[in-house]
Amino acid sequence: MPAREARAVRVPAGRRVSVVDVEGGQVGDLFAFAAADPAEHLSAAHTRASTGRLFPAIGEEFVTDRRRPILGLVADTSPGAHDMLIAACDPARYALLGAERPHRSCAENLRESLAGLGLAVPVTPQPVNVFMRIPVAGDGRLSWLPAVSQPGDSITFEALMDCLLVVSACPQDLVQINGGDPTPLAIDLPQAAPDKE
Ligand SMILES: [Zn+2]
Repeated sequence: MPAREARAVRVPAGRRVSVVDVEGGQVGDLFAFAAADPAEHLSAAHTRASTGRLFPAIGEEFVTDRRRPILGLVADTSPGAHDMLIAACDPARYALLGAERPHRSCAENLRESLAGLGLAVPVTPQPVNVFMRIPVAGDGRLSWLPAVSQPGDSITFEALMDCLLVVSACPQDLVQINGGDPTPLAIDLPQAAPDKE
């Protein structure tokens, strides 16, 4: 997808899907919804309760707001920083940052992507922010650091139910998570998992 835009893909259960940081240093906001009922979505909060960790690790599962596994994290060629604490950027966020409107946002990107499929959801779920570095200090403070993913780095998920995946190449250019310069991401959806070919 071009910089600052999002794309949606349907991913059947058992299929793998990767998010690729094409040029490096770019954050992606990843949302996942149950294909059977998009009101059920991947929930970072419920996932943290399930895994007992703030951030995802290979071998772990992301669960929905109904506590059902929706995605597994199966591979990661990036340095491994992926955030599960920060809300998607939205028009209010950019207004607070003093942006000249209009400014694209991950929340609006999600809305547009779902509308393209004839779908809508009443809330913006907290995303899994792939490649986003938000370390937590011992006193609980957060730091917003530029992504350190390299060109071509990817994170790979396995769908654990039929789902709808939306990835937004975050247009944030007012804080340094994208190094001030948003760039494209890609979604790689192989026809079948490599070990099944
Ligand atoms: Zn964003």
